[in-house]
Amino acid sequence: MLDWAGTTVDHGSMAPVIALQALFARYGIVLSGEDARRDMGLLKSDHIRKILSLCDVRAKWLALTSREPVEEDVARFFEEFVPLQKTILPRHSMLIEGVAETVTGWQRRGLRVGSSTGYTREMLAPILTQAIAGGYRPDATVCPDEAGAGRPAPWMLMRNAQLLDVYPPSVCVKIGDTESDIEEGINAGMWTIGVTRTGNLVGMDAASWAQLPPEEKAGKLAGAEESLRHAGADFVAEDLPACSSILAGIDRRLSDGVSPGSRK
Ligand SMILES: [Mg+2]
Repeated sequence: MLDWAGTTVDHGSMAPVIALQALFARYGIVLSGEDARRDMGLLKSDHIRKILSLCDVRAKWLALTSREPVEEDVARFFEEFVPLQKTILPRHSMLIEGVAETVTGWQRRGLRVGSSTGYTREMLAPILTQAIAGGYRPDATVCPDEAGAGRPAPWMLMRNAQLLDVYPPSVCVKIGDTESDIEEGINAGMWTIGVTRTGNLVGMDAASWAQLPPEEKAGKLAGAEESLRHAGADFVAEDLPACSSILAGIDRRLSDGVSPGSRK
């Protein structure tokens, strides 16, 4: 069960940050990258609500409007976010290196590949088309608006399992780049793998990452790993291709009768 931005496409999960910053800028609020990334992975309307409740954003909103942000503000922001995201998304949602080859290899071995996301179906549609053209074709894709709720609820993953006819949940693995991905996987009773280098917690596109001095790379990877482990990840990998050997290890654990979450 693969996440999208920061896991299979969009190295660094840049598209949502750029779109969110553009959205808040319209209202005179300079949104920091850190604030934009804090609750990444949630359904985008839930994400916008979380951002509006952050201390510094709320203070800026109060100063600008002389009132607290309310649910109507969340709805309006989300309404404006959808078209904005659609113009920004395609440019930043290129497949991450190695993803198409890795997933095709898994599928040839008989693994079924599902996917979930914080994007609505409308937002994901052009990304899915682009991914398929690039050689990555998940066997199922479920968006929050089709499952009743986004992360950390497990419904998207359970719907994927049903579409793929795969059970019990302990034979499934959730792979994603945010804490909410890990919570989603745990809530579904699945194994979880957190990805670091390509994801939101490192938050850098491939070109910027390549420029980074080795000691800074090590520090950022360690920070991302710590956050994902703290969220409860069974395993952590730098990127999706690095998950192949972990999947083999999970197979061995399953034949030894070990369940997800036992961290053995
Ligand atoms: Mg992601």
